[in-house]
Amino acid sequence: MFEKILIANRGEIALRIHRACREMGISTVAVHSEADRSAMHVRLADESVCIGPAPSGKSYLNMAAIISAARITGAQAIHPGYGFLSENAKFAEIVEAHGITFIGPRPDHIRMMGDKITAKEAIARAGVPVVPGSKGGVGDVEEALRTAAGIGYPVLVKAAAGGGGRGMKVARSAADLETAFQTARTEARAAFGDDSVYLEKYLEKPRHIEIQVVADSHGNVIHLGERDCSLQRRHQKILEESPSPALNAEEREAIGRTVCDAIGKLGYLGVGTIEFLYEDGRFYFIEMNTRLQVEHPVTEMVTGVDLVREQIRIAAGAPLSLTQQDVILSGHSIECRINAENPETFAPCPGLISDFHAPGGLGVRLDSAAYSGYRVPPHYDSLIGKLIVHGRNRTEAMMRMRRALGEMVVGGVETTLPLHQRLMSEPDIQNGDYDIHWLETYLRTGKGRTGH
Ligand code: ADP
Repeated sequence: MFEKILIANRGEIALRIHRACREMGISTVAVHSEADRSAMHVRLADESVCIGPAPSGKSYLNMAAIISAARITGAQAIHPGYGFLSENAKFAEIVEAHGITFIGPRPDHIRMMGDKITAKEAIARAGVPVVPGSKGGVGDVEEALRTAAGIGYPVLVKAAAGGGGRGMKVARSAADLETAFQTARTEARAAFGDDSVYLEKYLEKPRHIEIQVVADSHGNVIHLGERDCSLQRRHQKILEESPSPALNAEEREAIGRTVCDAIGKLGYLGVGTIEFLYEDGRFYFIEMNTRLQVEHPVTEMVTGVDLVREQIRIAAGAPLSLTQQDVILSGHSIECRINAENPETFAPCPGLISDFHAPGGLGVRLDSAAYSGYRVPPHYDSLIGKLIVHGRNRTEAMMRMRRALGEMVVGGVETTLPLHQRLMSEPDIQNGDYDIHWLETYLRTGKGRTGH
């Protein structure tokens, strides 16, 4: 087992990884930008190294600085967290070339899944149903028009290199398609430096349901059930829960088996998430994330499995600490993402947190690096914490979330706490009756499906 791990990230996820290391008796090296000198992940780590100025391009994305930090401190492995370099195949390769273990999948798998076109092809070949769409990329408007006529409108133009909901445009008719195609391409080029796009059937009322898998280097693959992440704004998740209110045990088992088979065939290593849209009882693959996800705690709460611990063990060559039979889903978990943002306009609100009180009590978990006196820097994303609850059933979890949200105090900056409070009292949310478009409609009209 490793003695020392460098955590190439910041904020709540750096802390989350630190916690797993601490419990495993592994010492930690934090890296930080000049803006994060007094951040909690730096304070709690055993050692820390400043890797550059505030902009992430010069610090958290600075591969040379991060690898030097690992060499100087003698760290044997690097955990990339999520975002930043976590899905950068080149980084994984360079890390390994320096004799340091990358805690994540093999570079080939990161690369394969990083391009959504190759990901879809590989997953479909491995026997998983995918969203109907173009065969590979679409090069020009004429090809897009021909392909869309075959798929049937509405269609979605998506960036092959896409992420964070960018480079995605709906076309409801042939008349819309040219603009959608050009806009998606321009956005993709600006955001990812790659303007390859493809077409998919646009599903009108799906839920976003994703399966968590874990695979070791001994040929064992298990799944840890699903997360329902249908509450989204601009294709970005706001609230997640496990299990999904929409699935029954047979459906869960069937999709879990399909996914594990495919992951086994691909020879994938580490933790991963297979994302699906689910509509009218059918699953359609959209993408795979080859890293730990923001919403991983809801899975941990219902399974009792520490996903970061498994990642570290797998990277060290150890077998999974449990078999599929050992995975018992118990109760219900919900996570609310708390962002330092205006709850109506969603404009980021960096600044000084003047008061901070963490909720607590039975079944409440707060993953956050914030504290009273912490200044939220303007340079990074606005997530300041994840409030996660567990209950014996969904009703109890909802009740507990409402109670915990009411206890939490974040003073000095605006946060999305009031939005989550409102959502908890919406009948559709209470009934689990929402799809990926629910939140946008609610934000636009102030009403849920049932008209409250
Ligand atoms: P990204 O990598 O940018 O997050 P994804 O492919 O994971 O992109 O899709 C993000 C979200 O966009 C999905 O959760 C869903 O809400 C929406 N979406 C993606 N594909 C489709 C589709 N074919 N039809 C309808 N909505 C879609």
